[in-house]
Amino acid sequence: MPLLLKFSFYSHSHSSHFLSSTAMAMCSSFCPQIPHRLKGKPFFSFSSKSKPLFLPFKLISSQASNVTAKADALSTRVGFLGLGIMGSPMAQNLLKAGCDVTVWNRTKSKCDPLINLGAKYMPSPEEVAASCDVTFAMLADPESAIDVACGKNGAANGIGPGKGYVDVSTVDGGTSKLISMQIKDTGALFLEAPVSGSKKPAEDGQLIFLTAGDKSLYDTVAPFLDIMGKSRFYLGDVGNGAAMKLVVNMIMGSMMASFSEGILLSEKVGLDPNVLVEVVSQGAISAPMYSLKGPSMTKSLYPTAFPLKHQQKDLRLALGLAESVSQPTPIAAAANELYKVAISHGLSDQDFSAVIEALKAKK
Ligand code: NAP
Repeated sequence: MPLLLKFSFYSHSHSSHFLSSTAMAMCSSFCPQIPHRLKGKPFFSFSSKSKPLFLPFKLISSQASNVTAKADALSTRVGFLGLGIMGSPMAQNLLKAGCDVTVWNRTKSKCDPLINLGAKYMPSPEEVAASCDVTFAMLADPESAIDVACGKNGAANGIGPGKGYVDVSTVDGGTSKLISMQIKDTGALFLEAPVSGSKKPAEDGQLIFLTAGDKSLYDTVAPFLDIMGKSRFYLGDVGNGAAMKLVVNMIMGSMMASFSEGILLSEKVGLDPNVLVEVVSQGAISAPMYSLKGPSMTKSLYPTAFPLKHQQKDLRLALGLAESVSQPTPIAAAANELYKVAISHGLSDQDFSAVIEALKAKK
């Protein structure tokens, strides 16, 4: 069945040679079998030293969306480790685009829906990495990311020259560097690529990738990032992607804590919190997050898209990052305390908007 793929290409005068000779040279140690016509340079690409290059993504992607490819065109063997809220839809989108995907998850039953869609299964990260050209990992936290990459039966035991490992989990820079070192010691390439966007953007292939590490691996996996996401940034050295992600989620965690206070204060002074949500949505502080979460928060409903325990983990890691450079972050520190209270109330697995519960008086 011919499938429409959302590949993004530069509008480039040498468009018949999508991969530049420089990138080709950089790719010499990593040559998965992505069909030549599917290789592309990124729209959003900048190093930590150069100015960001912003091209009108939607404009070009609407031209690029005309690019179709047969499902079997993607012969690169893609591994996917970690099939939670984010990993499952991401792997599903790769499968739906016709990619050859091999999955593994600690809880095996979460592999079954993917296997039903045509994924292969391997019983360990080591075997996935050994049998695939490029392996993506979407794990909960630094501990699980390290364990799956570097532990017993970890991916590092199966990976080697000519292969690549892309960690899309949200971790701190130190963790990412440790994993990078272990992977690169085997002769493989490494890219950190945490994502901005939640469950729905993951389902819709609308994630934002914040990547750093081996540029040649970035170029090579770009078609896969474009299946799973709407944009991608290349940020230079390993650690920069993690740092960008933590800063973004630090802001988000503080915003949600403040929004929660506003909802409860409005209610206490006799206002309708639903009207507050509407007023906020029309003003300068409007944010999709408030419009999306507000209506259910006013009903004390918190369907999980981003687990609260992960938001607290990100605040904790962001505070560590701030500490490492002596940057005061009093607002984030206060927000972190609120998420800790929410966790102590048993709200870890609820959506992070359940942090509002930590502000409610106990009856
Ligand atoms: P999740 O639903 O909790 O999934 C976590 C995944 O990690 C599961 O596959 C889980 O396996 C696995 N895992 C946990 N501990 C493990 C261990 N010790 N060994 C092996 N595997 C382990 O989380 P998620 O929402 O998909 O998030 C995954 C990552 O993306 C996190 O770093 C999160 O911060 C980040 N993120 C999440 C969102 C979001 O909105 N949800 C958005 C952006 C980024 P089991 O199935 O066996 O438990």
